[in-house]
Amino acid sequence: MGMFCYQCEQTAGGTGCTKVGVCGKNEDIQSLQDTLMFALKGIGAYAYHARELGARDEQVDAFMHEAMFSTLTNVDFDLNRYIGLCLKAGEMNLRTMEMLNNAHVARFGAPTPADVTVGTKAGPGIVVTGHDLLDLLELLKQTEGKGINVYTHGEMLPAHGYPELRKYKHLVGNYGTAWQNQKKEFEEFGGAILVTTNCVMIPKDSYKHRMFTCGIAGVEGVTHLKNRDFAEVIKKALECGPLKENITAKTSTGFHYSAVLGMADKVIAAVKAGKIKRFVFIGGCDGAKPGRNYYTELAEKMPKDVVILTAACGKYRFNYQDFGTIDGIPRLLDVGQCNDCYGAIQIAIALAGAFNCGVNDLPLSLVVSWYEQKAVAILLTLLHLGIKGIRLGPTLPAFLSPNVTKVLVDAYDIKPISTVEADIAAIMQGK
Ligand code: SF4
Repeated sequence: MGMFCYQCEQTAGGTGCTKVGVCGKNEDIQSLQDTLMFALKGIGAYAYHARELGARDEQVDAFMHEAMFSTLTNVDFDLNRYIGLCLKAGEMNLRTMEMLNNAHVARFGAPTPADVTVGTKAGPGIVVTGHDLLDLLELLKQTEGKGINVYTHGEMLPAHGYPELRKYKHLVGNYGTAWQNQKKEFEEFGGAILVTTNCVMIPKDSYKHRMFTCGIAGVEGVTHLKNRDFAEVIKKALECGPLKENITAKTSTGFHYSAVLGMADKVIAAVKAGKIKRFVFIGGCDGAKPGRNYYTELAEKMPKDVVILTAACGKYRFNYQDFGTIDGIPRLLDVGQCNDCYGAIQIAIALAGAFNCGVNDLPLSLVVSWYEQKAVAILLTLLHLGIKGIRLGPTLPAFLSPNVTKVLVDAYDIKPISTVEADIAAIMQGK
């Protein structure tokens, strides 16, 4: 169903509408406005986290206002201007991710690589999901000395890399995988659950009573905690009693760009010696849709001389596997949360500098899984930087009209993912 058009005074594209294509609500303008709105939501999430840590950027705030205003009905009929606004959103998202990165490092220290156990340890436990590291820090402070183990879930995994978070010995490990598995994983967990941000599934009745939300997150029928006062979730964890020792796997995280650039000499030497043939970024948002096993298989079947960079919750498709090393360099480098795609970009820029070429000339391929608004903002950042040849899946976003898709394909060589075998063959040929 089309939008109501105040120029035609009826549904755009409906019977009698003679102005589709000029009234500002043709499908291409609509598509770009939707893209812009999704990106703004993603930027808003990152800016919110940065603001909680005391960082803000007037230029980003001003852009948010301009971009929101630009989506008002019939304010602008110029397709090219909307394309420009979408690319500007990518630029502003880069500023925002940088601001958040700097705020995280200032508060929690620069991450360093960390091995992390997956599963539960004996004793009462709280699992923390979402993205807000400040919530986790406050919970760690308030649970210290209480005999409660704290676990990361989903996008909280990178917390283990930050010195000011991992110094708490009761931050014992990671539990579970990505958001879409919460119902099964939280039901089995048995302890208390703290949800800090988005990507929360409506809980089952079986564990609703031991789930709590805080900050931006909220679920009807679940207790919401204010002002980072976690007394209730702590009480619930103790009431729930001890969890069983059940370590199921191990993984690693903390390959912040500063840690990766710290081993730049080794990486450059391995590339020059032909031991590293390519870098492939495989990551982004995960989802429940069938077909996302593509990302597991892609990582598994990548030739052994390929280093895999990853970020966001898409990594749970494969991050429990041992990918080995190349001359001491781990073949799987988890740079962090989705906002830490900023770090992956810094690594690419540094490599381009070291090899005296452009980012598009590097032996680097990007295979991005997308699900929600932050992924849209990050995609626009990559386009703003002029990065070409990104593979996007599991499908191209439905809000991209055929014409907008054509613009992206023509200008940026964006392609949908294909089969694992075909994509690996093309990637290894630099296509
Ligand atoms: S990476 Fe995306 S899908 Fe995954 S938890 Fe974060 S916002 Fe949600």
